Formats: sequence, C-alpha cells, structure tokens
Amino acid sequence: MSEQPVHQCQCPICQATAEHSVKELHSQMNLYLSRLDEQQRRWYAALEAKKIGHGGTKQIALVTGLHVNTIRRGRRELEEGLASRTVGRIRSPGGGRLSAEKNT
Ligand SMILES: [Zn+2]
Repeated sequence: MSEQPVHQCQCPICQATAEHSVKELHSQMNLYLSRLDEQQRRWYAALEAKKIGHGGTKQIALVTGLHVNTIRRGRRELEEGLASRTVGRIRSPGGGRLSAEKNT
C-alpha cells in the first residue's frame, strides 16, 4: 500500500502567516481525505461544499485540491442517493453467519 501525500490547503487563510483556527481544520480535512479512496474523497468534499452553500464547491476545491468538476460529480451522486454506486460485494443469502458460532 502506498501512502497518499497529504494535500496542503491553498485557501487564502492557510496561505497567510497569521494563526487561524481554520488552518487546523483544513489540514485535518486533507489528512482525512488522504486515507479515503477516490469516490469517498469526492463525496466527503461534496458534503463539505454543500455545508458552505454558495461558492462552496470552489472553496472546497481550493482546500482539498480536488477539481470543481469532481466535487460537482460527488454532489450529483449524493443527490441521486448514490444509486449509480454499488456497495462493494453483495453477500450471498445465508452466507452471513460467523463460523465462530458453534452448536455444541
Ligand atoms: Zn485552508
């Protein structure tokens, strides 16, 4: 497994030298994003952008280094209830029992 480099936020606050609480938040957002896979990154960024509201997508693109179109795609996918995204492998019926369960 290769380690993802953590993106450095490019927003004006993080670029400035003054201390700001937002800096820690942005660096932790990027740290978190570095541990997610591609689609999870997209959805997380989409949620953060939605929280900001107007201009959120551009703002989050700056913070995360993701492309605005990537974030827009994430927002669209979330709005569709991730219908186009299947959840891993679907377990076969009856195959879910733990083998540790014993009948004695
Ligand atoms: Zn920032």
